[in-house]
Amino acid sequence: MTDIRWKSILFLSALSIVSLFLWLMTSFTPALSVFTLGLLIYLACHLYWIHQLHLWLMQPSLPEVPEGNGLWEGVFNAVLKYERNNQAKQTELNVALERFRIVANAIPDGLLILNAANQIEWCTANAEFQLGLDMRTDKNLPIVNLIRNSLFIAYLYNEVYDEPFKLKNDRNSDAMLEISIIPLTNRQKLLISRDVTQLEKIDAMRRDFIANVSHELRTPLTVVGGFIETLMDMEGAVPDNLRSYFGMMQDQTTRMRRLIEDLLTLSQIESNTQIPENNPINMTMLTNMLLNDAQALSNGRHTITAQANPHFDLSGAIDELQSALGNLVSNAIRYTPEGGEINISWHLRDNLGVFSVSDNGIGIDQQHIHRLTERFYRVDKGRSRETGGTGLGLSIVKHILSRHQAKLEITSKPGAGSTFSVVFPNARLLQK
Ligand code: ADP
Repeated sequence: MTDIRWKSILFLSALSIVSLFLWLMTSFTPALSVFTLGLLIYLACHLYWIHQLHLWLMQPSLPEVPEGNGLWEGVFNAVLKYERNNQAKQTELNVALERFRIVANAIPDGLLILNAANQIEWCTANAEFQLGLDMRTDKNLPIVNLIRNSLFIAYLYNEVYDEPFKLKNDRNSDAMLEISIIPLTNRQKLLISRDVTQLEKIDAMRRDFIANVSHELRTPLTVVGGFIETLMDMEGAVPDNLRSYFGMMQDQTTRMRRLIEDLLTLSQIESNTQIPENNPINMTMLTNMLLNDAQALSNGRHTITAQANPHFDLSGAIDELQSALGNLVSNAIRYTPEGGEINISWHLRDNLGVFSVSDNGIGIDQQHIHRLTERFYRVDKGRSRETGGTGLGLSIVKHILSRHQAKLEITSKPGAGSTFSVVFPNARLLQK
């Protein structure tokens, strides 16, 4: 580089000395002419190389970087070095991209990226196959135009992705898919689809089996229960020394009947893939109704209060929600000793609708909380049975809530009490 700069300095110095010499030997005009001519040649050279650089920049290709001379040799060498680095980085990037593409396509799950407007940006071949997409025509289209399942659309827009979503995709030969969504930066989302058709078939068989067994057991149990009741009511039919046994038989048949009813309800809700009805639910009325039920159940053993925000109602399936919220209320009564306090409330929190039931009952140790919605999970089996529990209540609640895109939040402290809150998305609120 120094060498190159010296060449320019040498040329300009030589030109100046020759011109000075001419001026001294002849006169000013020929000296000025030679000096001007020299400068013009020097300028023309620069213009020529600028033109070469411009031509190259229009279509840059490594083997065709001009060589240049003088100052321009240095410029073109730097351009060559920069372009070589660039090409090496590009090759490295291409290799990494190709490796990523091979790995992504080897994953049996489908991967798909949605932009902030939920349009499809990119997806793997498996996602294309599982979701029945064709990236040649579907790229940049909103996913809701292609997967028109209303429950999926509600799941996508609701942006609560704690639980995966089961999607029966008619675009791809009735496959059952499990969809998980992971939010990325810039409001992009990664959607992962997994084919769970076989698992779902086994699960459906299990559900059908439980539903059929429960159904078959219901009639004989009703008959047995009915006979026991009749015998107990008939004067002299049951000897006094056997009455207590008959009482136990009656309790156990009642318990079994309750269990069967809960099993049937659970399997019905689990296999229901229909979108729940969207009735407007008057929450002030529902809260009062639940308060009355609670008072009847408590039979004066607890102090029960209720408040409802009168300005907001809810949209959803009234029967399902009444049963789910009622379950939380009955749990509060069952797990709060006599003299305890229970509060039922419907209010707003950060634009979300919250229905909560608080009690100052026995409370729950932290380690159990995340398992309470599992089937038959009970902190204290004895207490649950004593109070007529089946261990299925909160599983039913969880299913009903997930059908309404709502979440169950549980806070509790042993000995101090619990709060069960159902958080409904803003889209389900109806302003009065
Ligand atoms: P169960 O029929 O046994 O009440 P659930 O599914 O309704 O079944 O509840 C599961 C378990 O959660 C219960 O067995 C109980 O241990 C615990 N639980 C539920 N609600 C409360 C509450 N309000 N206070 C304390 N424990 C509760």
